[in-house]
Parts: sequence; C-alpha cells; structure tokens
Amino acid sequence: MSIKVSSVSKFYKSQKALDSVSFSADKGQVIGFLGPNGAGKSTMMKILTGFIKPNAGEVFVDEIDVLQNPLEAQKIIGYLPEHNPLYEEMFVREYLQFQASIFKVDKSQVDDCIVQVGLTSEAHKKIHQLSKGYQQRVGIAAAILHNPKVLILDEPTTGLDPNQLEEIRAIIKELGKDKTVLFSTHIMQEVEAVC
Ligand code: ADP
Ligand code: MG
Repeated sequence: MSIKVSSVSKFYKSQKALDSVSFSADKGQVIGFLGPNGAGKSTMMKILTGFIKPNAGEVFVDEIDVLQNPLEAQKIIGYLPEHNPLYEEMFVREYLQFQASIFKVDKSQVDDCIVQVGLTSEAHKKIHQLSKGYQQRVGIAAAILHNPKVLILDEPTTGLDPNQLEEIRAIIKELGKDKTVLFSTHIMQEVEAVC
C-alpha cells in the first residue's frame, strides 16, 4: 500500500477540519481527492506530508509512519502546496537549482525535471513573467526534483485556462505512470479527466 490513512481527525482549536478520515491507495495510481472548499483537503495533505500533526489517527506513506518519521517520509514525497508558493523574483532554473540544493539533490536533476514538465522554452525567464500554467509547472518540477515515489498535489489545476488545464492534466497522467499521485480538486470533471 502506498498511502494508508486511518481514522485521522484534526481540530484547529474548536474548528473541526477532519473527522476520522480513512482511506488507502495502491502504488502507481492517480487518485483524485475530491471535495468542496473547506472540506479539509489541504489539511489532510499537510498531515500526509508531515507539515502538521493530526489530533488522532495514523498515516503511513510507503510503509513509513509519517507522524513518527516526517523527515524520512518527506524524502519519498513530493508536495505541491495549494496556491503554489514560489520565489517569483528568481529565474526558473535558478529557483529549481536553489530547491535542489535545499533537498540535497544533484543539480543535474534540474534540467531533466525542466524537460519532464515542458518548461524548456521558459527556463531562462523570471518566475513572475510566466503564465499561471507555466508557474504551476515550476511548482511541479520543484516537487519532483528528488524523484519521489509519492506525489501530493494540492489543487494543481485550479484557476487555469482550458489549454493550460489540458497540459497540466497530461503532465499529471504522465507522472502517474511511475508514481502514486494524489491530487485534490473541488471540480468533479478534473477527477473524471485525470484519474
Ligand atoms: P479545503 O482544502 O478542502 O478547502 P481546508 O483543509 O483548507 O479545506 O480547511 C478545512 C477547514 O479547516 C475549514 O473550515 C477551514 O476554515 C479550517 N482551517 C484550515 N486551516 C486552518 C487554520 N490554520 N486555522 C483554523 N482553521 C483552519
Ligand atoms: Mg485547500
């Protein structure tokens, strides 16, 4: 089992965000995490990636106990957070090389990832000069630099125009061939198109 979540609950003070959530995912699947705004998708993803702790429950990613060993888990998880936070004043390649140095990944990976997400023609530009679709590609490239087994994408297709949408869907499907991909959306058609 690639992802196993058991009875996870999360409260932000008195605000209940997750109420005993359980699910599992096999290796090599693209799984849609569907729910309306406020359903708790981002909260679940932050827990899965070890950034916040739940109040109850267990989370395993590729047999690693995320709550006990978040750093070990992060080595095999790629994460694109919602709203894709990027350093927009940096150049695309410069930003990815910076991320590679943080993850202690060989910088030779950067060019491979640029090709994988179709960023070659934009790699010399500053991030703020890119369209939203290309900015999403930068976020996805950063998430796959360390060649993670599991990819967690929080609303990767929200706010894209129809062309960009098609292209990002294609990238997600391609990545799903050798990774387990969990991606969240509040749009039913996204799940039908990609999963
Ligand atoms: P989704 O990603 O599905 O839109 P979220 O996980 O962002 O849902 O939010 C789930 C619930 O938790 C919402 O009611 C939201 O307002 C609340 N929430 C999320 N983050 C926080 C936080 N840091 N502090 C307090 N409440 C939060
Ligand atoms: Mg969210």
